Order: sequence, then structure tokens, then C-alpha cells
Amino acid sequence: MKYNRILLKLSGEALMGQQQYGIDAARLMQYAEEIKAAAATGTQVAVVIGGGNIFRGVQAEAFGLDRVQGDYMGMLATVINSMALQSALEKLGVNTRLLSGVTIQRVCEPYIRRRAMRHLEKGRVVIFGAGIGSPYFTTDSAASLRAIEIEADVVLKGTRVDGIYTADPEKDPSAVRFPEITFDEVMEKNLNVMDMTAFTLCKENNLPIIVFDMNKGGNLQRLLDGESVGTLVSMHGSKTVAADANHGSLQPAAGEGSEEQA
Ligand code: UDP
Repeated sequence: MKYNRILLKLSGEALMGQQQYGIDAARLMQYAEEIKAAAATGTQVAVVIGGGNIFRGVQAEAFGLDRVQGDYMGMLATVINSMALQSALEKLGVNTRLLSGVTIQRVCEPYIRRRAMRHLEKGRVVIFGAGIGSPYFTTDSAASLRAIEIEADVVLKGTRVDGIYTADPEKDPSAVRFPEITFDEVMEKNLNVMDMTAFTLCKENNLPIIVFDMNKGGNLQRLLDGESVGTLVSMHGSKTVAADANHGSLQPAAGEGSEEQA
């Protein structure tokens, strides 16, 4: 088992599937199946899910609403997604607990670190709702912070793309994917992995991040099996691989280094 404890970050937007808004039932069940399989390996699984498919705080200003109010609306959106994921997991027979950064006592437990860790030790999938419970943050920051608090081995950022590229592979055919990259290089190259607060938390606490395509079935399992999937951001190592048409190739690009950096 490569990891004892993981924190999986899923974006709310990814939950929309092909829709423009809300939750796509098929996508939700797919995520639940993948999480079930991950937990069945004995890896302890914590999940943070975003709320962008329902509401983001920045939208509030466009509506002429107060930003802080908007952020709380966004946090509540993450609770809706968390509840949906919890139900989907329970339908598959997975034991779960939903812990919220904003107290909503009828539907979830309050976030208490020790309780979260105890649930994980008992093999329950723990879902953290409502981000960190404060406005002006994102669920990426919540994922980083909770991962550090619960001593997770890695943050797995499940997205719609299969990793971090030198440029946008849809616009630049010469773009190559980094299977591994250092925190420093991400900053030097100004690459977009997570927002700065979330990224800095990981960097300063030496918590590796893996960015990977969660929509490709089996990817989460492959990661847990130790396969190179997506891009690993850590203190060590940097290499790139050529992108294929599906942006999924693992072939080393000619002349591209596989050398380790200190
Ligand atoms: N949010 C917040 N504090 C947090 C986490 C989230 O204020 O700790 C709000 C913020 O407005 C954010 C929204 O909740 O835009 C939804 O989260 P996010 O944008 O991270 O969702 P994702 O992009 O992952 O779907």
C-alpha cells in the first residue's frame, strides 16, 4: 500500500458532468465507486469537495451581494455536494462521516480533528464539508489544511485534466506534461496547481500534491497502486513527458530529462 492516509480533493464543477449546473447522478456514482475501491484497499480516505457547481463567493459581487455572504453560500454549497457524496457512498455500503467547518448539527458532525482521525482509523470515509469554515478561502485551501491536520500522506487533486503541463495542451501542441515537478519549479514557472494559499500550505509542510484526471475510471486505484498517474508535486524530482492526443502519454519526450533535482 503506497499511502496510509490520503486526502482526495474533488471540485464541485467536476460533479456537473456535462451539465451546466448542479450534480450529475452518473458522475456522482462514478466518484463514489472509485472512493469505495480506494477505501477497500485499506487506505484511509478523507475527501474535500468544492461547491463551484452550485455557488462561488466571487459570484456574489456580480449579483450585487456581499462577498462574505457569498462565501458562506459557497460553503453551504460544498455541504450539499458532501451530503450527496455521502449518500452515494452509503448506497454502496461504505461507512462515512460528514464533518463540517460550519456547524449544521442536524445533518453533520462539527469538524473536530481528533474525531476525524478516529473515524479514519476505524476505516470510515471522512468527508469535510464547508471548507475551513471561513470566508475568503477556497476548498483547495481546506484540502491542504485538513490534510496537514490529519497527517495525510498526500493531497490527491482530482480534476478534468491529467496533470500539469508546460503550457495549455489544447492550445499548444508542443506542451508536455510533468509527471513530477518540485514546489519551487511550480512557482518559478508560474504554473497553476492550486491557489497560492493552498499551495503554500503544502509547500511549507512538505505535503506532496498529485494532480490527476479523476474522470478517467481506475486512475485513483492506479495511483494507490503506485503507478505514475498525473503530476506529482513535491520537494524532489522533475521530469516531463510528451503529450499524446489524449494528453495521457507516459512516453519520455526526446531530450527531456528524467533527472532528479535536489
Ligand atoms: N469557500 C469559503 N471558504 C472555504 C471554502 C470555500 O469561503 O474555506 C467558499 C468560496 O466562496 C468558494 C466556494 O465556497 O468559492 C466554493 O468552493 P470552491 O470554489 O473551492 O469550489 P470548487 O472550485 O472546488 O468547486
